This record gives sequence, structure tokens and C-alpha cells, in this order.
Amino acid sequence: MRPDDEHKLIEARHYTFCPWCASSLVLKVADSRERLRCPNCDFIWYRNPIPAAGAILNRDGRVLLVKRRYPPRVGDWCFPAGFMEYDESPIECCVREIKEETGLIISISRLFWVYSGHDDPRSNAVLILYLADIIGGELAPGDDAVEVDFVSIDDIPSNIAFQAHREAIADYKRYLKTGRLPGEK
Ligand SMILES: [Zn+2]
Repeated sequence: MRPDDEHKLIEARHYTFCPWCASSLVLKVADSRERLRCPNCDFIWYRNPIPAAGAILNRDGRVLLVKRRYPPRVGDWCFPAGFMEYDESPIECCVREIKEETGLIISISRLFWVYSGHDDPRSNAVLILYLADIIGGELAPGDDAVEVDFVSIDDIPSNIAFQAHREAIADYKRYLKTGRLPGEK
């Protein structure tokens, strides 16, 4: 799927019927924006970004990246990360996703930064990225990944899957040079 086609999916994936009562939804202003609303019950589709969490793991100047097995962006690389389950905290999500995608058990050391994701056709996202240490496990790609590898920070592949991850890589390079987290002058 080309990025253009993927982007069209963002607009295509609207509800048609009320998920509560199955009436046809109508576009109407609510809280100063046009939103899909149900004329029959109280349902209003507040379309919010989905939070995701992931980690930057550094081993001897090399950072852990995963190569994506499934759309979108099959074969592109990104930091290990994934969408939060409804009952998880961001840290719980991060620890679970790293275990699932890479086989590694991690301990979070601190929050790195929070990014907006506006180029994932599944949903807009909020990416919460942590710095973390590896405390166990064995490196092996999970079901979602073709490959997991520690990559030299000076030799990052050009095909990074999402804008938020590209920003994070640039921020992390600066952090390694200067010790300044994103947002710090
Ligand atoms: Zn309804």
C-alpha cells in the first residue's frame, strides 16, 4: 500500500451507524466542531488519538529498532512501541510491547518525550517514548516484527516508518551529544 492510499484510509474509516443503537449518524456541531452524532440517542463520536508507548533501548551506542511485518509500512523500521490497552498505564504498555516485539524485559528509567502521530492510517496517535534498560529476556522478533536489531545511531536506516519516530531519532541523537532532553534548551 502506497503512503497516499494509506492516508485515504484515515478519512474512509468513519462510523456510518451509531455503535449504541444502530441509527444512521449525522454530521453536526458539538463542542465547536463538526462531529458524527446519533439523532436517536446521546452518542457523539469524539474522535481522539490513540495513545501508544514505546522505548529507546541503547546498547553500546546502538539503538533497538524493529522491522515491521504488518501494514502500515511493511518492512520499514521503528522503535518498538504499540497501542495502549484500555486498562493499562503507559509504562505497563511499554514494558508489554517491548517484551512482545523484541523478547526483552526492560526497566523504565525515565520519560523521553511525547510525540503526535498524524501519519498512521489506522489512527492518529500520541506516542509516549521512554528511556529504558534491558534487565532480561532474549532478543528475538515477535509476531509483529520481521527483524529486531541494535543499529548504530550514526547508521539509522532511511526507511523509518513514522514521522514521530523520525523526530524521536533526531531528538535522541541530540540528547546523546548534549545530554538535553527534547524540550530542554
Ligand atoms: Zn444512537
